[in-house]
Amino acid sequence: MTASPPTAVPFFPPTLFEADRPALLGLLREVGLDPEQRFILGSRTAAFEELLRADLGAADVVACSSGTSALSLILWAMDIGPGDEVIVPAFGCAPLASSVVTVGATPVFADIRPDTMTMDPDAAERLVTERTKAVLPAHMFSVMADMPRFAALTERHGLRLLEDSAVAQGGVLRGVPAGLWGEAGVYSFVQVKTCGMPGEGGVVITRDAALGERVRMLRNHGQHAGRRFVHHALGVNSRFDEIQAAFQTHRYAGFPARLARRAEIAAYYTERFTSLIDHGVTPPPPDQDGRCFYVYTVLADAREALAAHLAEHGVATHVYYPQPLPAQGAFAPYAPPGARWPGAEEAARRHLALPVHHLLTDAQVMRVADLVCAFATGHR
Ligand SMILES: *Cc1c(COP(=O)(O)O)cnc(C)c1O
Repeated sequence: MTASPPTAVPFFPPTLFEADRPALLGLLREVGLDPEQRFILGSRTAAFEELLRADLGAADVVACSSGTSALSLILWAMDIGPGDEVIVPAFGCAPLASSVVTVGATPVFADIRPDTMTMDPDAAERLVTERTKAVLPAHMFSVMADMPRFAALTERHGLRLLEDSAVAQGGVLRGVPAGLWGEAGVYSFVQVKTCGMPGEGGVVITRDAALGERVRMLRNHGQHAGRRFVHHALGVNSRFDEIQAAFQTHRYAGFPARLARRAEIAAYYTERFTSLIDHGVTPPPPDQDGRCFYVYTVLADAREALAAHLAEHGVATHVYYPQPLPAQGAFAPYAPPGARWPGAEEAARRHLALPVHHLLTDAQVMRVADLVCAFATGHR
């Protein structure tokens, strides 16, 4: 094993859950020794769902096994399936398209805006056909999609609106939390997400109680709660773990402070990087509303060289999506021959994510900013 240099700035620290270790071990013991011996979908999961529901003002929150599964369950609960088209962004993570394919429907890829890297409402509207059933925008890195325009668009065409808000838990746009702009949205609790945990899980959030009820049934083999072995509909196993539910409940009070620290770091980066735009490094657009710093990305003309420069100095960076979704082998069958997505191609070529997690020290944040500035202005 080679030791990292003392100045290394990891993308995610190995100490992400260190402060909560005693609490987690205590909960493990508590759930393990509980006379109920209930390890999934018990009272702790119900309490966590209710905590989120009340905090968000949602009609229902349904915990399930992952953010990806949550997306598929929404589509399924909406009766979207074979013959239906769902408009998704051409840039983003695989579940955006794979969840649509999973229910037998067809993903239709709309280009993104080059500045926000979220789906362009005009591009999406041009793709509406009589087979279109739903529009699925995704919040990307730190910027919420243009939900007011997507809400107007889906209203105009009589389409369903769901939201891939997997990365945007804690984000609020015009007073509406991420996930509640559409009929339903999702949060992912994979460790790297804004409210991540040491394991796998997610939730469906919805303002439609009936939709929530359908998701609740589908996540557990089509059974209604409390009535085991009665299967009203085909379902899947997408259940939630009791220890993780207790742990998420325990950590929830600290979530706003962790998000605020990320936002503070992001504001500092943006302040430092705004002068770099003429030097080939562009920070995210500076607006405050609808921002949630899951990841801080710059767009860099010389992306590979910048990443190498930072790596040389012990700073880890990350390229999330090196290719637009329709250029991926898995989704190429859904890409019309000859079609292009210039916004997605540019984002894939230029985006670079910098460390923004809440445990970074001020010194580390300044060091990252100094290195980026030195690179861009040629003073390496
Ligand atoms: C992480 C993520 C998902 C999927 O969540 P999992 O819990 O990893 O399945 C979906 N969409 C986006 C945009 C994500 O970043």
